Amino acid sequence: MYDYLIVGSGLFGSTFAHLVAKQGKKCLVIDKRPHLGGNVYCENVEGINIHKYGAHIFHTNNKEVWDFVNGLVPFNRYTNSPVANYHGQLFNLPFNMNTFYQMWGVTTPEEAQAKIEEQKIEAVAKMKAEGITEPRNLEEQGLCLVGKDIFEKLIKEYTEKQWGRPCNELPAFIIKRLPVRFVFDNNYFNDAYQGIPIGGYNKLIDALLNEIDCKTDTDFFKSDYNNWRKYAKQLVYTGPLDEYFDYRYGKLDWRTVSFKTRIEDTPNYQGNAVVNFTSHEKPYTRVIEHKHFEMFGQAIFDCPKTVVSEEYSIEYQEGMEQYYPVNDEKNDKLAERYRSLASQEEDVIFGGRLAEYKYYDMAPIMEKVILMINQN
Ligand SMILES: Cc1cc2nc3c(=O)[nH]c(=O)nc-3n(C[C@H](O)[C@H](O)[C@H](O)COP(=O)(O)OP(=O)(O)OC[C@H]3O[C@@H](n4cnc5c(N)ncnc54)[C@H](O)[C@@H]3O)c2cc1C
Repeated sequence: MYDYLIVGSGLFGSTFAHLVAKQGKKCLVIDKRPHLGGNVYCENVEGINIHKYGAHIFHTNNKEVWDFVNGLVPFNRYTNSPVANYHGQLFNLPFNMNTFYQMWGVTTPEEAQAKIEEQKIEAVAKMKAEGITEPRNLEEQGLCLVGKDIFEKLIKEYTEKQWGRPCNELPAFIIKRLPVRFVFDNNYFNDAYQGIPIGGYNKLIDALLNEIDCKTDTDFFKSDYNNWRKYAKQLVYTGPLDEYFDYRYGKLDWRTVSFKTRIEDTPNYQGNAVVNFTSHEKPYTRVIEHKHFEMFGQAIFDCPKTVVSEEYSIEYQEGMEQYYPVNDEKNDKLAERYRSLASQEEDVIFGGRLAEYKYYDMAPIMEKVILMINQN
């Protein structure tokens, strides 16, 4: 008899198992996939850890979470600094003095600010001339926030690829702010800590589940674990919220992305982990070169090949990976109805991105579990 049966070995399930085991509780973790780790799982190809379910960069401002993960496995110094490719022209991201220099040749913050202001004023004046006071769509919103050049070269077509619709048909609220930095700083995140576990995310999962009983290829709904009270006192469920209730009120919608991964016969294909393709010229949104998450300096060349993944935004269909919840009114209402059912389930904890129908980064998921266990 276990104290907890944990459905799902992603970061929620694994962190939960690790922390309660430390308190002397007995856990069994099951996962329907053939591997542990949920979406942070990596596959090793040519000596390189491939982020199978999309590029994952750990970042946080929370020192407790950072110390916790580093206590399990040391993290490297990877700093996310994506590059944008617009018809072969390269720009640093996020928008900062390097980007402005590449865009206009400006060399001081004052010049850059003046250039952006001039283009913002132009966009607002154009709208006013048409009798419009508030941006009616994402295109007008973007132009008012950063002006024509940045919007058209770095945002417009990339966003259209992501959403599969023209920006002038997308709602303005999708982009609330477009931060610009008037310093030469390509570090994408503002957080105090970031990095990748040395040896990859599987090391982190191994450390979390080190002393825990685990079973892969085991679907909660298609196994006897569905009669979980036979096996454990409590259930921790991290699978899809609607599936738990057999889709009683209907299915929740998801967004997904797909990847085309290939091996390139060169040690260094694009010189950076993340390159965004911001024009329609290429059908994919980004190309990830996985080795740059974990290899630096000479190590890049000591590994003779490289693995790259093209990332495509596609319409979600049944059976695809459920990546991002669609938090529109219809789905939020539906999720709320399921959450209300969930709150009535005795001895069941619903947690994680699928069971809460909520997007979480990795650190906030771990933070949530740490708080939950500390409170009990
Ligand atoms: C494309 C993409 C990129 C991301 N990039 C980042 C990033 O750069 N930085 C960052 O901090 N976060 C990132 N994230 C978020 C990160 O993936 C999540 O925070 C994390 O995966 C959440 O863990 P989880 O345990 O909730 O879910 P998951 O990792 O999805 O784990 C849930 C597990 O439950 C299992 N399961 C489901 N149903 C059943 C069942 N019936 N029976 C048995 N097992 C079941 C699944 O197989 C899965 O293994 C990204 C997410 C996506 C989608």
